[in-house]
Amino acid sequence: MRLLLLSTPVGPLGSGLGGGVELTVFNLARVLTTRGHHVGIAAPSSSKVLNNGLVELIQIPGGWQLPAQGQSRSEPIVTGAALSNMWDYARQVQSRYDLIVNFAYDWLPFYLTPFFETPVAHFVSMGSLSNAIDEAIAHTAKQHPGTLGAYTRSQASTFAQTPTNQWQVLGSGIDIDQYDYCDHPTDALAWVGRISPEKGLEDAVLAAVMAGRPLKVFGKLENPTYWQNVQQLIAEASAQIDYCGFLATAELQKSLGQSQALLVTPHWIEAFGIVAIEALACGVPVIAYRQGGPAEIVRSGKTGWLVDPGDVTELAEAIARIDQIDRRQCRHTAKTMYSLTAWGDRFEQWFYQILSGMMSS
Ligand code: UDP
Repeated sequence: MRLLLLSTPVGPLGSGLGGGVELTVFNLARVLTTRGHHVGIAAPSSSKVLNNGLVELIQIPGGWQLPAQGQSRSEPIVTGAALSNMWDYARQVQSRYDLIVNFAYDWLPFYLTPFFETPVAHFVSMGSLSNAIDEAIAHTAKQHPGTLGAYTRSQASTFAQTPTNQWQVLGSGIDIDQYDYCDHPTDALAWVGRISPEKGLEDAVLAAVMAGRPLKVFGKLENPTYWQNVQQLIAEASAQIDYCGFLATAELQKSLGQSQALLVTPHWIEAFGIVAIEALACGVPVIAYRQGGPAEIVRSGKTGWLVDPGDVTELAEAIARIDQIDRRQCRHTAKTMYSLTAWGDRFEQWFYQILSGMMSS
């Protein structure tokens, strides 16, 4: 197949602004090229991918899109230049590709789909956040059945207007060989993610204080005002927090691997939570809220603990029980459940189904 992946327009690949979708685009391109498919990625200017020499990277100029999670449900539609330029590019080159794959969480690509001659698959990377996008997705499900992909069932079920059987649930996968198993952690906990209100860093800070443990924080500083508030909380609570910045995967996995546990404390329905499988791959148990993607990943009592959303005391109690979790079991689960190969198979099959028009409405 010849595939054109249209990346998220919220920032360049490698910047961290796109969150987990960056790793999704990158890993998908890698696994598909190794199977002999031709893969082009169109992404905002200054994008970087750890290229295996096979991926064609097309840099698209223009301003970045504002992340949907920072906006209200009824926000008027605003289109940044990078997004419209990406779709203009796709329109011009579409005849060179068998399939276009959209990774933008935005109204425009859904709206444009019927105007394309080359079929368009949409991988939706977040749960429902906007009325305009919900409607665009529901419309696409009716007009182009079988073309919607999601990470998890919990994520798909947030789109009330689109029946769950209209979604291909594809999960996620990582290259386990890029993550080293670590059997000798320090006493520090880890929190990994974009520093933005929906990610709930403050809960992890409070839980670490209650548990009397240091916390290492890794991730893109997306919302400076929120970070100031968290820093104030850190000072007030005399928390031992070490902000390590946004690290490339190779460095991130080294530090993450040395953690006692990863805390996943989102205040929204997390579509997946790639950081949870990255942690498991290093042998790090995951303590997460029992909702959204992380609740589908963590097996409470086996690969970590699931606690009631927002319950910081329960988080602290789970931290105290962390040595009941076998780190080898965490690594084993990542290896068997989230391999790049199995994930690549699912995407490949989905793409072939779209191309052969076999999907039923
Ligand atoms: N990440 C990274 N370096 C860091 C912190 C995070 O590369 O220092 C990446 C992490 O590997 C993951 C993404 O940021 O791919 C976060 O994705 P996740 O699905 O957990 O959440 P999202 O940001 O998509 O809501």
